[in-house]
Amino acid sequence: MSAKILYFDNNATTAVAPEVLEAMLPYLKGEYGNPSSMYRFAGASEKALKKARQQVAGLLGAAPEEILFTSCGTESDSTAIMSALRAQPEKKHFITTRVEHPAVLSLGQYLEKQGYAVSFLGVDGKGRISVDELTRAITKDTALVSMMYANNETGNIYPVAEVGAVCRERGIPFHVDAVQAVGKIPINLATLPVDYLALSGHKLHAPKGVGALYVRRGSPFRPFLRGGHQERGRRAGTEAVPNIVALGAACELAGRHIEVENTQVRVLRDDLQQRLLSGIPDAILNGDPENRLPNTMNISFKYVEGEAILLLLDQYGICASSGSACTSGSLEPSHVLRAMGVPFTYAHGSVRLSLCRYNTREEVNFVAEKLPEIIARLRAISPYRNLPDNAVP
Ligand SMILES: *Cc1c(COP(=O)(O)O)cnc(C)c1O
Repeated sequence: MSAKILYFDNNATTAVAPEVLEAMLPYLKGEYGNPSSMYRFAGASEKALKKARQQVAGLLGAAPEEILFTSCGTESDSTAIMSALRAQPEKKHFITTRVEHPAVLSLGQYLEKQGYAVSFLGVDGKGRISVDELTRAITKDTALVSMMYANNETGNIYPVAEVGAVCRERGIPFHVDAVQAVGKIPINLATLPVDYLALSGHKLHAPKGVGALYVRRGSPFRPFLRGGHQERGRRAGTEAVPNIVALGAACELAGRHIEVENTQVRVLRDDLQQRLLSGIPDAILNGDPENRLPNTMNISFKYVEGEAILLLLDQYGICASSGSACTSGSLEPSHVLRAMGVPFTYAHGSVRLSLCRYNTREEVNFVAEKLPEIIARLRAISPYRNLPDNAVP
């Protein structure tokens, strides 16, 4: 195995940007003051928090007071959803989709067990939701709508502005899991009708262990963590100053690179996608080719197992991800591909390649050369070759 890593799994996590590491280091070294302390030494931490809040708000077109820092995207999602529900205890209906990240999906399933009626909206073959269907699902009892901005597996971008307009018209709070969208596509909360928006540091070149939640001024809020008065009483616990500084720096950097994501990264992604789809027989693109993040591609290769592809890619140092999750020994295709109705013989052979601005032309060429060889090798030994498309394992 070559020592070099070719990292094509940026929707799982990202490398910390050198500029981000540089920005956070002083707060891991000398500047360790608690931002809540009175003395001048802690002033640097307090100022750093303030700057980071402005940087995150700046990327999103929000006001700094509308940003609160959390430990991760999952905490941001949970805080927003539980907040809106607790603020309206008389309403017992929650609307979300079948293609959410587990951070929202499993919370929805939990709420169902707690006595909530939960509508999990389906998607079409390309993974798209219907705004009409969502609108029809709304009842007098609906407390909250939660929809992702962009899907982590397919890269599909969802109609946030349209759904937000519907929710606003009916006075229903709207939460958006924007963990995959922030930094990849422009987001302007000054005009977008959204009440809560979740993001995560480690998906945009900040370290793991920090996230943020946007809460629109005036939207219902109930703290998830209670304790000290940090984050103006909305999220107790001493602030993770180094991580928060990193998130601020990453957001500012992302703002400066959004153009690159949509030119350089998109060009590399499209080139790789085109070469794989045209060079490998029985390969299909999963997701909406028109309305997708610029960095993500999800391709299914008929008759092969995604896990096997990943193992062989790994031998070349190529990091990618498969749509299936190995749960309790049985290989289940991902809930996203199942919701899209991708046939069994394809769904099992799905691979997600997600790029970032650090990927190079040479890396793309290498993957475009190796992946067809890998698929051919696996197909030669595939036990699925003679199964019909709609076979069930
Ligand atoms: C990664 C991810 C999350 C969870 O974020 P963490 O910071 O890992 O908790 C939530 N939603 C989406 C769409 C994601 O991709």
